[in-house]
Amino acid sequence: PQPPYKDGVPEQYYKPSDPVALPERKANATFVMLVRNTDGPGIMNSMKQIEDRFNRKFQYPYVFLNDKPFTENFKKYVSQLTDAPVEFGIVPPEHWKQPEWIDEQKATAAREDMMRNNVIYGGSITYRNMCRFNSGFFYRQELLQKYRYYWRVEPDVKYFCDIDYDPFLLMQDQNKVYGFTVSLYEYEATIPTLWQTVKEFLDENPELLPADNAFSFISDDGGLTYNRCHFWSNFEIGDMDFWRGEAYSKFFDYLDSKGGFYYERWGDAPVHSLGAALFANKSQIHFFNDIGYRHEPFQHCPQGDIHTNGKCWCDPGANFDYEWYSCLSRYDKLF
Ligand code: GDP
Ligand code: MN
Repeated sequence: PQPPYKDGVPEQYYKPSDPVALPERKANATFVMLVRNTDGPGIMNSMKQIEDRFNRKFQYPYVFLNDKPFTENFKKYVSQLTDAPVEFGIVPPEHWKQPEWIDEQKATAAREDMMRNNVIYGGSITYRNMCRFNSGFFYRQELLQKYRYYWRVEPDVKYFCDIDYDPFLLMQDQNKVYGFTVSLYEYEATIPTLWQTVKEFLDENPELLPADNAFSFISDDGGLTYNRCHFWSNFEIGDMDFWRGEAYSKFFDYLDSKGGFYYERWGDAPVHSLGAALFANKSQIHFFNDIGYRHEPFQHCPQGDIHTNGKCWCDPGANFDYEWYSCLSRYDKLF
């Protein structure tokens, strides 16, 4: 097929891309992007990098999710960035809206209190909806039922390096359930009673904990307190069957029943991280050291040979891994 030679550009100036030979094996996996229509330019920015650095060669599909219908323009412009299948889903209101049984007076008071204290997104209801949705509902969406592994992508992130292997197959072949690039501390003001709630749940369900979990990633004192370490969930490569499984499902339902997504501002990052650290074997949590990644204001920039091999373009000196606010050293100590 001929490219559209336009505006008098002679044919001999064109060099069409060679057709890409697809890998023989693939995982049952998809990209997932929860976005608003206004996130169009930002998500295209991220998706274009994903395509160029990885997916052009692997052709994994995309699932876009939104609490409102996507516009025709949104669908058209994101679809033209890839040759892989792209699907668009609407989140049902019961997976998104603040539940009826939440005491609205108490929730309003909490939001006003957090706004006074300048807690980031402290006054936002939609942000809370988003956090609750990502914590316990994204993997239940109809369009995601056919998939096991997912890669979460947010607007305006950066992928610094070539990814020449299939991270989904790595997850599958090595029996991993959760992959991350950046870890850090959560704001105390957003989760005042989260750990207390987690401890209550664990007291009632001790059999759900495997012996070899990553408990010391989340607590420095044998469980007395939460050290607030979490994996930064704007990047995730994970196994949805882990979230769909008994332990995490019970865990999420318990947390949800306490109302902390609305009476406080529990984030999906600490909730996923606590779930992974408690209910998975520590060997099932993977640090994607070779994936150079930035979401403002932090980045993981691979070092040394990994930087070279990946043709990364981040400054190796600008790397969050062992900054004082990073939790990566606690992850290292697990092994
Ligand atoms: P931050 O990374 O914590 O600052 O939060 P973001 O604003 O990046 O939101 C996290 C993710 O949820 C992004 O992919 C957003 O596009 C998405 N998101 C946030 N709020 C909404 C919302 O109200 N509706 C939809 N559809 N997506 C949202
Ligand atoms: Mn973001």
